[in-house]
Formats: sequence, structure tokens, C-alpha cells
Amino acid sequence: MIRFDVVVIGAGPAGLSAAYKLASSGIKVAVVEKGEYPGSKNVMGGVLYLSPLKKLISETIVDEMLQANVVERNVIEQNMWFLSDDGVIKAGHRNEKWKTSPNAFTVLRAKFDNWFAKKVEKTGALIISKTKVEDFIWENDEIIGVKTSRPKGEIYCKAVVIAEGVNPILTLKAGLRKRDITPKMAAIAVKEIIPMSTERINDIFGVGNENEGATIEIIGSWSKGMMGIGFLYSNKDSISLGAGVLIEDLKQNNKFTPYELLQNLKEHPAISELLGENKNSANEYMAHLIPEGGYYSMPRLYDNRILVVGDAGMMVNSIHREGSNHAITSGMLAGETLVDAFEKGDFSRKFLKKYYLKLRDSFIIKDLKKYKDLTSIMEKNHQFFEIYPSLLNDAAYRFLNVDGTPKWEMQKEIFEMFRKRRGLIGMTIDALKMWKGVR
Ligand code: FAD
Repeated sequence: MIRFDVVVIGAGPAGLSAAYKLASSGIKVAVVEKGEYPGSKNVMGGVLYLSPLKKLISETIVDEMLQANVVERNVIEQNMWFLSDDGVIKAGHRNEKWKTSPNAFTVLRAKFDNWFAKKVEKTGALIISKTKVEDFIWENDEIIGVKTSRPKGEIYCKAVVIAEGVNPILTLKAGLRKRDITPKMAAIAVKEIIPMSTERINDIFGVGNENEGATIEIIGSWSKGMMGIGFLYSNKDSISLGAGVLIEDLKQNNKFTPYELLQNLKEHPAISELLGENKNSANEYMAHLIPEGGYYSMPRLYDNRILVVGDAGMMVNSIHREGSNHAITSGMLAGETLVDAFEKGDFSRKFLKKYYLKLRDSFIIKDLKKYKDLTSIMEKNHQFFEIYPSLLNDAAYRFLNVDGTPKWEMQKEIFEMFRKRRGLIGMTIDALKMWKGVR
């Protein structure tokens, strides 16, 4: 009989962080991963925030990652672009402090997850790849192990950490989620990795060398009024270009596939010129779900002998494009809770509630609560993705296009433009809705 103290299901950042914490405290952990190797199936934009990794491992992790060459570029500038059919408004922030004290790196998950998994193995955890957890082993209504896809693949354990990502198959089987996630709770994102010379990437993003990079988030005309965010991130010698749209919107609209929306984004003059001759030379194409349902769509995160971490717990803050940091932090907090559980010999629901309380006191639940209404507000108010980006562009064009019109007349025209296309009451209500979503 194979026996471990803890089985972790899934070797993404959430599962690996839980395993790191547990194994480095002397607990016998097996991480079961269905992919060929950790990261082989995983998709992210990918901006990896560093503070959770520093807390989990140590401050030296940043240098270690740089030396191991597992990260792409240090993000020294973050931008938001608002597209109309023929224009773009660019807003952004660059900071010198990020050069010496990095906040985030761009990463490619196949490389990063695999490196992280090796680091976890060094602490004593066993990573079992190419193996799927198919079900749980139950005794007296309690989970006492997992059944895997391997012949005689039962593994018995005292506790299980579900880190299966957005598709909640085992969370449902454990009874922690009553119903599957709905199209309102997830976005479908497609992403291309486009090879490009380092010099051209430096030029496009306006950075001095191959270690510095920037991110661009893009909303507006490309999503055809649907709730969607595109992204363009700089890697060392490639760029990551992607587009994600709420599945409910795609279902309602029924006219575009995610791939066509990504094409729309690529065909926009501002993006097309930036990609130049590399536009159609992607060497990797991938699709993945993003849990965007937020606070209201979270499952129960703990029960007797079981905890749920990361995307499986719907812990993504899509407005801030934060997911990996939630995954790492929740994995770490789950690990800490189980270390205490082993000390006390108590794996009851009552004891494991400590995990939920730790999450509640952390930024994770605080932020998810703060934005709890945002997805449903955005989903019902497509003007934020269609009318406003277009209006802002038209207003900027009118104001900056010198044709002999006196400025006060221009201002009047712009005011009229807003009044006609959205109305004063409409704009006031929109401002209140936005405030309700982000306050
Ligand atoms: P995952 O990374 O999905 O890992 C789950 C793992 O479990 C996988 O390895 C999977 O193979 C394995 N697994 C699943 N079921 C089983 C099973 N039954 N048996 C064995 N193994 C199993 N976040 C950011 O912070 N910054 C970004 O820029 C960003 N951009 C994103 C862009 C896109 C297109 C997407 C899709 C997501 C993005 N996110 C981003 C979110 C981020 O990727 C996730 O929040 C994060 O990866 C969650 O980690 P996780 O470990 O919970 O899940």
C-alpha cells in the first residue's frame, strides 16, 4: 500500500507551493500531476509576481531565478491601451525602482513550473507526473486517499490538497462545490507565443536590454463589445499575445470564436504595426480558462482532511491580472495549516477552518470581496468595453487634430459627442456602477 502524509493534486504554482511548505517542514508529500511534466499543460499571460515567492522561499529566490534563467524579463513598465477601430489611447507607468527591486517577471509556464517542481523535489516531495487523480478513496464519509490513473495507483494519506486548477472535477467529487462552474464564472483565453529578435522587442517596449520588459493590457474594439482583455507581454526573444473573453458573452454573441477575436486584436493597426512581419509567425498556440467569477463563485475551501487552493478555489483577481500570486499564497497558507494539523494530529473540518481564516485575513479574500460585484456589472454593461474606449479615442482625436477650430468649440463638440452617444444620465449611472464594482 502506498502511503504519504499528504497528496497534492496538481503541480501548478498552488500545488507546488503547498508541497514546498509541507516537505520543507518534514512532511511526506506526493504531488500528482497529469501533464507530461509540471507546466507542460499550463498557460498564463504570464506576469509572475515575486512577493509571494519571497515569502514562501526566501528573498534570495529572485537572484536564484535569474541565475537559473527560468524567467524572461523584469517588468519595469505596465500599460493599459484603449482601442477604437482606428485609434488607441495609451496609459502606463514605468518606475526606476522596479529595476533594482523587481516586482514581477514575465515567465513561460512550461519552463517556470518545471524549475519550481525541481526545487520542491529538493525539499523531499515526490512529484508523480503523467498521472491523473481520478477519484478519492473514502472511509466513513472521509477522504483517506486518492485513486490515480496508474495500475494499482491508490495512494493513502492523512490529507489532500486540491490544486487542480480552474476545471473543478475533483472539487465537485469531494462535495466542496455543489454545481459545476457556469459560463458567467470563467473566461476563455487564447494565447500565441511569437518569436521575435531581442533587439526588436527592446525597441517595441522601449527598454534598454533583454532583462527589462513591459506589459500592455488592451481593451476596446477587438472584443466586439464583449467583456474581454487582451495582453501583449515581452519575453526574452518572443512576445506573448493573448485575448480572453467571458464565456457567457461568447455564448450570447455566438458570432465569433476566441481565435477570431485574437485575430481582430492582431489586425488592429496599432498591434499589427507593432508585430510587423512577425504577425503570423507564432510558434505556440494555446487556450485555457480563467476563473473570473470571483468571491461569489468560490467553493467551500476546507473540509475534513481536505483543502482547496489556487484556481480550483476561484482565487483570481482578473481586474488586476493576479492569479499566480493568489495560487502561491493560498498554497503556502494551506501548507502552513496542514503543518499545524500534523503537530496537533487533528485533520477535522473544524481545525482546517484555520486555512480559511488565514485566507480571510490575507489580501486574497479581502481583494476578492472588494471586487465581488465587478464581473456581473461588467458582463451586463458592455459600454465599458465598446462605447467608452471608442468615445475616448474620438474625443482625443477631435481635441488633438488641429484644423483651425477654436478650443472652446472643440470642447463643446466633445461634450455633445458624449451626450449623444451615452447621455448625461447614462454616464452618471455608469460612473456609479463602476464605483460600485471597484470601491
Ligand atoms: P494551474 O496552474 O492551472 O495548475 C493546475 C495543475 O493541476 C495543472 O498542472 C494540471 O495539469 C493539474 N491537474 C489538474 N487536474 C488534475 C488531476 N485530476 N490529476 C493530476 N493533475 C491535475 N496570473 C497571473 O498572476 N499573471 C498573469 O499574467 C496571468 N495571466 C493569465 C493568462 C491566461 C491566458 C490564463 C489562462 C491565466 C492567467 N493567469 C495569470 C492566472 C494564473 O495562470 C492562474 O491563476 C494560476 O496558474 C493558478 O495556479 P494553480 O496552480 O491554481 O492552477
